[in-house]
Amino acid sequence: MSIALSEKVAAAQRIQTRRPDNPIFDKCVQFTEADEVKAAGMYPYFFPIEKSEGTEVLIEGRKMVMLGSNNYLGLTMHPKVREKAIQTLERFGTSCSGSRFLNGTTVLHEELEEKLAAFLGKESATVLTTGYTTNLALSCLLGRNEIALMDASNHASLYQAVMNGFCKLKRYNHCDAADLERRLEHMDEKRSKLLLTDGVFSMEGDLAPLPELVEIKKEYGFPIVVDDAHGLGVLGENGRGTCEMMGVEDDIDIVTGTFSKSFASLGGVVAGPRAVINFIKHHGSAMVYAASMAPPAVGAALASLEVMQEESWRRKRVVHNAHALRNGLADLGFNVSKAESPVVAVYPGGEPQAFVLWKALFDKGLFTNLAIPPGVPPHKSLIRNSLMATHTDEHIEQALEIYAKIGKEQGLI
Ligand code: PMP
Repeated sequence: MSIALSEKVAAAQRIQTRRPDNPIFDKCVQFTEADEVKAAGMYPYFFPIEKSEGTEVLIEGRKMVMLGSNNYLGLTMHPKVREKAIQTLERFGTSCSGSRFLNGTTVLHEELEEKLAAFLGKESATVLTTGYTTNLALSCLLGRNEIALMDASNHASLYQAVMNGFCKLKRYNHCDAADLERRLEHMDEKRSKLLLTDGVFSMEGDLAPLPELVEIKKEYGFPIVVDDAHGLGVLGENGRGTCEMMGVEDDIDIVTGTFSKSFASLGGVVAGPRAVINFIKHHGSAMVYAASMAPPAVGAALASLEVMQEESWRRKRVVHNAHALRNGLADLGFNVSKAESPVVAVYPGGEPQAFVLWKALFDKGLFTNLAIPPGVPPHKSLIRNSLMATHTDEHIEQALEIYAKIGKEQGLI
């Protein structure tokens, strides 16, 4: 054995045997669940993708149909999007190496903000490093004496924003406007309130009852924030998302979104009244203290915004694909989510059943997402299928054939 190699082996052995011995790490040492699931060959997370063509990926040397990506419009491989990312990289380098606040604003960040504000029909917009940190930045709007009204199934980043804001959290039942109204009757009228809801709920793909929430807003006078991470680019006649689809754009005060889905990039946007956006730019800690979106990500988001407006067929196609998969699965006898969004959830009946179904789909060449508690409510474990505009009829047929075969074998249909 060469000296270099024996040193590497010795280092690996040292790493393997070193266990954190401080009590603060006891919880980590005692966390063996993931290793147990791995040992049973059922671990569904962190699969390294060796190559991607968008709808098809290579994993462990095997070609698989990708039904677990949020690349809804299929733009990650679009020539204009890739070209703009490359041009931007060549002009500004790989990173801004600092926060928007200080050295991390380029002319392209500003161009993206202006174009997004115009697209969403809001006075102003600002962009942040990820969709998650965009929502976190909202915490500056939520002080100690204020109330955040939250749908129970809101995304974790909205919950984190509320916790960071130290305000009072008041949850209402998922998508249940009547429950919200009942709870409002018992709340202190004098405390300012902000309602925050996902537009499309990420795991099940169902839609917030925005028109009903707007009615209640008008009675009680609180503003509404819609996190439309999964709706922007896909829903509505012009791709302006859930608010456009439901005809309530003018009644929704603030919209947040992410670039990691239809925008084929990484980053997030918050759009709303000029004064609010200006306040977030100067007080949102995720804005002030985190490095800004990397230039190639800005380039990709800019190009995607253009392409999604030019190529409206993509919106229609992803909705058509989701419809085809949802109806096909329902016809086979699967219990599926009903909402018309790019996400199709399959409920196999419980957590163990979801694991077994996910694994069988994976072994047959379908990459889907397994969602179990706490990602979803107890008893709502599901297989999340997300569609792209670039999936072909053959992909959908292949998926349905695999589901049919496994569904029969497992007694699910
Ligand atoms: N909001 C919702 C509803 C989401 O589903 C996600 C992530 N899936 C985010 C925000 C965070 O976005 P990102 O992953 O781009 O940071």
